[in-house]
Amino acid sequence: MLVVGLLVHRLVVSPFETNCYIAADESTRDALIIDPGEEAHLISDAAYGLDVTVIGIVNTHGHADHIGANSALKGEFNCPIIIHEADAHLLTDPQANLSAAFGPGIVSCPADRLLKEGDEIAVGELSFKVIHTPGHTSGGICLFAEGVLFSGDTLFMDSIGRTDFPGGSQKQLIDAIHTKLLVLPEETLVYPGHGSPTTIATEKQHNPWL
Ligand SMILES: [Zn+2]
Ligand SMILES: [Zn+2]
Repeated sequence: MLVVGLLVHRLVVSPFETNCYIAADESTRDALIIDPGEEAHLISDAAYGLDVTVIGIVNTHGHADHIGANSALKGEFNCPIIIHEADAHLLTDPQANLSAAFGPGIVSCPADRLLKEGDEIAVGELSFKVIHTPGHTSGGICLFAEGVLFSGDTLFMDSIGRTDFPGGSQKQLIDAIHTKLLVLPEETLVYPGHGSPTTIATEKQHNPWL
């Protein structure tokens, strides 16, 4: 899908059906991989097929279903792993990233760049703005660029992220959605961490949690 210079390619990976996105500057072909949960080969094949240069891997938060292919893809593309500072420890701790319950556990290489509210990630001529939306985890973020919001496990179509994991807070999550996401332009396209794309206008009108 092409949105004013931003190319977005979605892959559904892992048993948890995580949405992994390749988001690229359509002209320079520089790209981010957002939330590579698993199946590194599918993601790298897609990146090569799109003819993009992967310049970074961003995790919207540190849960295992969003980080499982980090290390393999860092090895493939030799690019930094980027995550909010409050979730960085989840990368290397299977207990904290919730994978310890499912066998040997999933770990990632440690973060190369730590994010905080208001940071920008440059991708070609585009700039992805970091919006800190704690509540699903302490270091959950959304990324906003060119009228598109990557909302991780913060905001879904007709739903919001779970808040019963360590670091979760339903009050924080709903506050963050109201004060930082629903104020974005209504036509903003929302690409969540699971499930179908939606828009800010649709969620304002129909999301029963908000
Ligand atoms: Zn999660
Ligand atoms: Zn998830």
